[in-house]
Amino acid sequence: MITDIFCKIINGEIPAEVVYQDDHVWVIKDIAPQAPVHFLIIPVKHFTGLDDVAEHDEALLGKLFRVAHDMAKKQNLDKGYRLVVNEGEHGGKLVPHLHIHLLGGKNLK
Ligand code: AMP
Repeated sequence: MITDIFCKIINGEIPAEVVYQDDHVWVIKDIAPQAPVHFLIIPVKHFTGLDDVAEHDEALLGKLFRVAHDMAKKQNLDKGYRLVVNEGEHGGKLVPHLHIHLLGGKNLK
């Protein structure tokens, strides 16, 4: 894993293409897109991974999905899209800050 780039982005230490932000959730464009639309849905609160999520975080996790769906609608992904969470080394997680990938804009099969 590499350093927590997403905390650095949220803290203004490094730039990103921000698509949406509020007090709890940021959405940025992935720097290496795997599809025509590739956004990252990121909680402002730092969770290294799902091990850190407690019962009182459930509403926030629900919000991540709602924001992801809103972003998909704004991008006119009417034919569908994919949400992905990579968890741990074997899951291919690179950035140690919980996030959801939103992928769409082509048939992902
Ligand atoms: P994951 O493997 O789930 O941890 O995915 C991390 C994602 O973050 C990858 O798709 C990277 O391309 C993306 N990424 C890494 N650095 C940046 C950055 N500075 N701005 C936007 N996306 C990034």
